[in-house]
Amino acid sequence: MSVLIRNATLITVDADDRVIEGGALLVEDGRIVDLGPVEEVVGRHAPPQQEVEGEGRVVAPGFVSTHTHVGYTIFRGRSEDAGLNCVVGMYIPMHTVLRREERCAVGSLTYAELLRSGVTTVLEMEEDADVYAPSVEKLGIRSAMGIMTSDADADAFTRGEYVFDPKVTEAQVKQAAEFAESWHGRADGRITVMMAPNMTINTSPELLQASRREADRLGLRLTTHCGWGEEEYAIVGELHGKSPFEYLRDNGLLADDTVIAHGYVTDDHNTGVLAHSGACLAHCPLMNATRGQIAPILDYQKRGIPVSLGIDNMYGDYFEVIRAAVLMARIKSSEAQAILAPEALRLATMGGARALGMDHEIGSLEIGKRADLMMIDYRTFGLRPTLDPVQNLVYHAHASNVDMVMVDGRIVMEQGALVHADGANLAAAAESHAQEAWGRFVTKYGGIVAR
Ligand SMILES: [Zn+2]
Repeated sequence: MSVLIRNATLITVDADDRVIEGGALLVEDGRIVDLGPVEEVVGRHAPPQQEVEGEGRVVAPGFVSTHTHVGYTIFRGRSEDAGLNCVVGMYIPMHTVLRREERCAVGSLTYAELLRSGVTTVLEMEEDADVYAPSVEKLGIRSAMGIMTSDADADAFTRGEYVFDPKVTEAQVKQAAEFAESWHGRADGRITVMMAPNMTINTSPELLQASRREADRLGLRLTTHCGWGEEEYAIVGELHGKSPFEYLRDNGLLADDTVIAHGYVTDDHNTGVLAHSGACLAHCPLMNATRGQIAPILDYQKRGIPVSLGIDNMYGDYFEVIRAAVLMARIKSSEAQAILAPEALRLATMGGARALGMDHEIGSLEIGKRADLMMIDYRTFGLRPTLDPVQNLVYHAHASNVDMVMVDGRIVMEQGALVHADGANLAAAAESHAQEAWGRFVTKYGGIVAR
């Protein structure tokens, strides 16, 4: 199948940050086979099977969200004002009442929202994340997916007690490895599986070590949360006599095949531990800011730590993540020119591709790469005049401006609508399932915060 996008502005995010006005991009069998000025590209090839008109529109590489919990959209409108209390008071207890079909309904909606927002690759980690694999296959998005494992008893954890059960450890690792054995590399390679222990305070050393063993055995990458709270340092210090970053390092989690989410609580020593490991950071500026924090990514970059961007959860418009990354870095550094638009776009695309070990395949518009891209309609309020398409994208575009998304050379969203699913049905199913789950949560815990 060949598709030619013509007359569009191409923001390539290649090594030279080329922007091609009046450009064309030809896709064959899932890959970009040519791009450049439209007359040149058209002159070099036989007529394509499909043409997409790009006049007034901008084509950019698809975004990569390197830290996401799609099912946590169930906390949308519930946990934004709750501070970090939502982790113990909502997130962990919700897992004890949430049914698989409820999680699937809410998370499938989120995958659709992310596609709508130009995200073509999602690192998804969550309890029972295996439930989403058929949705990922159907929607046509690309996803690295990991069962978010934990072997601390959930109800004891809610009371501030840390009880680890070896039987749970074994069952959790088994579930994660079996998911990999069933799905890793499926959906034409769009699904990859990761090992994803949840966080330092609810995983035992045995769970972390087993996760590393299984990752190495099955050829998987890893991800986890770290550096997200002062109490995390206090608890890990009490349980293991070391810092959270040291705890991950000493149990095999910190390496160049690992994505660490957050990292907004750190110091010179712990930043050094992270830098030495080669692990990538999933910076989640919108969620950090919601919690009153921000990771020191300018320091991280100076120390050589690769940075990518994640939406984390609840939010549905990835453009807001890019803006938050720029604005929060400027506030943190009191420097008005920290992170310029081309660099921000690079964090959102190539930064994510690198974090997932996919930078030879996705993250930019270059010949030979997989055709993961979006087309944004600039013929609208908020995006004119288009004096610099890159600055307009970073500072002024929204999910609602994306009108076509292609993943692996297949058009999966067209004129703002999903090709392989009905968006209204997804939203309705998520609504009713979320209401039912919260009903059981309130019955069990006596309110919307577990007591
Ligand atoms: Zn998270």
